[in-house]
Amino acid sequence: MELSAATTTPPGGVRGHASPVPPLPGPLEQVAAILRWYEAHARDLPWRRATASPWAVLVSEIMLQQTPVARVLPAYEAWLARWPTPPALAADAPADAVRQWGRLGYPRRALRLHAAAQLISERHGGEVPSSVDALLALPGVGSYTAAAVASFAFGQRHPVLDTNVRRVLARMATGQQWPASGTTAAEIALARSLLPARPEVAARWSVAVMELGALVCTATRPQCAACPVAAGCAWRLAGSPAGNGRRASQPYQGTDRQCRGRVLAVLRDSDGPVSPAQLDAAWPDATQRSRALASLITDGLAERHSGGGYTLPAHPPGRLQPTGRLVKEPGNASGPGHMSPGR
Ligand code: SF4
Repeated sequence: MELSAATTTPPGGVRGHASPVPPLPGPLEQVAAILRWYEAHARDLPWRRATASPWAVLVSEIMLQQTPVARVLPAYEAWLARWPTPPALAADAPADAVRQWGRLGYPRRALRLHAAAQLISERHGGEVPSSVDALLALPGVGSYTAAAVASFAFGQRHPVLDTNVRRVLARMATGQQWPASGTTAAEIALARSLLPARPEVAARWSVAVMELGALVCTATRPQCAACPVAAGCAWRLAGSPAGNGRRASQPYQGTDRQCRGRVLAVLRDSDGPVSPAQLDAAWPDATQRSRALASLITDGLAERHSGGGYTLPAHPPGRLQPTGRLVKEPGNASGPGHMSPGR
């Protein structure tokens, strides 16, 4: 007996009346869905407003490297109130930048931002440059930060791959829970393929997918029920298989990093040179303490004072030449391709 079309078994294996299976959303629909979601859910952050200058965007990007939004907000406002332009910061000492940075963490960023302000003042007439190449030549600016500033401050079309974006693309497009530990050529090619053609829409897409990663497709608790691309998400459709795991976050308590922070806080809170005895009170372990002090001096965050004791830096090391010219230090941080929690 011949089976009628109404009683055949569909690919899903359920016998009965065949109903048309809607096609999965393609990449274009996913991009459009995320743009619509962003329209309705974007946080009102000061560096995203139309009034934010390129300098404000650069400051925000440097501060957001490895630091959550909630901690960045007050520091960002205070920084820009004090130094609304690069020349304003360049006119002050690096020690002022380190003091203003306060407890934001990874204080070399303050020195780099100061050196960037000097270079911008010297070579670009005090205006943040718009080209990716010129941005890459600034201290503290790596491939992520250059692409982010070119996109968000100047509306250009570049793939912007921070941790949040990489996680969303890994799940949505490639079905992996976690992206690779370092950015791969395949990821860059995928990000390029999804970029809308119009530069201003591409820039908006970049911030939209970043926001989706920060608010919905979070590292440990993705809220797939609230996600605009859930219907076509490769990882969700595969049953959300566990990936290879992520690097555990580093402990902080008792580490050299914590010791460094304590020693730097003593220098930061003092108007003059700090004696070794004052530093001794900052941390009980002498070996760790001297290691921390040596690393602060190496990083240009502390100096021996000619009259004895230690201070914050008068000049960034290896940047300001005797001629007054600035040179870029090798091994600049490349920005948060790696980490931007809570962005
Ligand atoms: S469906 Fe879930 S896993 Fe997929 S992109 Fe959305 S939040 Fe992330």
